[in-house]
Amino acid sequence: MNRDSDVHVEKEKVLVFDTTLRDGEQSPGATLNVEEKLDIARQLSRLGVDICEAGFPIASPGDFEAVRRIAEEVGPMVEGRPSGEPMVIAGLARANKEDIQHAYDAVKSAPRHRIHTFLATSDIHLQYKLKIDREECIDQVIEAVSFAKTMCDDVEFSPEDAGRSDPQFLVQVLGEAIKAGATTLNIPDTVGYTTPEEFGWLIQYLIENTPGADNVVWSVHCHNDLGMATANTLAAVKNGARQVEVTINGIGERAGNTSLEEVVMAIHTRPQVFDITTNIDTSQIMLASQMVSSFTGMLVQPNKAIVGANAFAHEAGIHQHGMLQNEQTYEIMRPETVGLTASKLVLGKHSGKAAYKKRIEELGYTDLDGADLRQAVNRLKRVADKKKVITDADIRAIVADEIYQPPETWKLNQIQVSCGDVAMATATVSLTGPDGEEIRDAALGTGPVDAAYQAINRIVGISPKLVEYGINAVTEGMDAQAEASIRIEADNGGATYALNPQTGATFQRAYSGHGASTDIVVASARAYVSALNKLLADRDDDAHAAVEL
Ligand code: MN
Repeated sequence: MNRDSDVHVEKEKVLVFDTTLRDGEQSPGATLNVEEKLDIARQLSRLGVDICEAGFPIASPGDFEAVRRIAEEVGPMVEGRPSGEPMVIAGLARANKEDIQHAYDAVKSAPRHRIHTFLATSDIHLQYKLKIDREECIDQVIEAVSFAKTMCDDVEFSPEDAGRSDPQFLVQVLGEAIKAGATTLNIPDTVGYTTPEEFGWLIQYLIENTPGADNVVWSVHCHNDLGMATANTLAAVKNGARQVEVTINGIGERAGNTSLEEVVMAIHTRPQVFDITTNIDTSQIMLASQMVSSFTGMLVQPNKAIVGANAFAHEAGIHQHGMLQNEQTYEIMRPETVGLTASKLVLGKHSGKAAYKKRIEELGYTDLDGADLRQAVNRLKRVADKKKVITDADIRAIVADEIYQPPETWKLNQIQVSCGDVAMATATVSLTGPDGEEIRDAALGTGPVDAAYQAINRIVGISPKLVEYGINAVTEGMDAQAEASIRIEADNGGATYALNPQTGATFQRAYSGHGASTDIVVASARAYVSALNKLLADRDDDAHAAVEL
């Protein structure tokens, strides 16, 4: 069996269009701040993503600014990017001039930029959402694509809800979009309704019947409502699609988008089935996955294909026996291929700073500046005092906790709790505030975490709604570090809103936070302060005032 492709014939490429920062960020609670978006965009470039959809610039001035900075700072070549060309930065726009102008202004400073505009084509959307007929739909597409083309050579058009549109009508719309100048036609299964056979057929039908089909790149954008996003995407590739729209860890609204790692690794692992290749450097997958998971607070399920914690764990005795004889008995992919390096180096109390520094860099965190690196190493040394062995998972948790955090308006200094089945849970907390002053307070709660959060609320002077709370052991063993992941929503007075491009409705933003410690209460408090800092930064930013559109 051939696990990693060693065929050297130049194969046709399928372009990877990542929409983690647009469709992914649209999932409830996945709000990212600008710095986080920039970090993710840089990692996407190192991963070898061809096109990065950086956001929906009209949604709010904050979203515009994030896309603009990504275009300016990540649009040019990024160190460590595998392919020779800079990443294309795309901005999403509904099919109207104002949206398109905003999208263009946001992406134009990138050396390679794209406008992605869309309009629904299914009868149900035309009739109930847009309240226009088919003829008006075609006119609007022609007008939007032509306008985009006056500013930008690279124009993508998507007929929203194509999966439920009349294929003959699609042929008509898409033919007009090509005539108006579209260079990529993206077919979305917006509601995750189709099956692989149907969707593959649709792509083949559209390519065969649309006038001018040979002059454009055909793309697909699938959703996972029925768990078929990856299968549908691959069926489309088999039928001629040469761009796949995906997100890291498959994040996205509802059940999510097609996951990048699944599509890429299917193509990589089965070269005989998919006679095609991608520009992705698969060894960067794990780092991208972990970064997106920490920043969005959306944890990866342990049994998730490719990036789940158990994806490469072989526990059954019979499997382990086989694996010891020959790894290929049960392993179709090597963990190293996706960047899961088995640590040969055991770090602990007696390891020097240089050893920690080297391991952090080996894990892919090559862009930490000197101060961040020192901070992470010092923290690891302190954890090593409490815990005998430091694993890669510990390092990832600490780097996420120390470095991948929002600007610190409030900082947790100390926390002390008392709890148990007789005592009332009580927490005493010390925070450093925005002016640098230290404030202490105490509170009661139903348990130690509740008490800690109540005390923090008293100090900060707000009481957000906790919408999700999770705690995970980073590694096995009684002395494991805990990683807390939470999500909060602002209380009514301070809510911030964003615009959903598909529904046109505004939704209240939620903020995620994460924290790690060998003490679960400390990890929980750190996660809470991190989420609060995100919420406060967003609220203070006038750019994020409610959007009325
Ligand atoms: Mn979508």
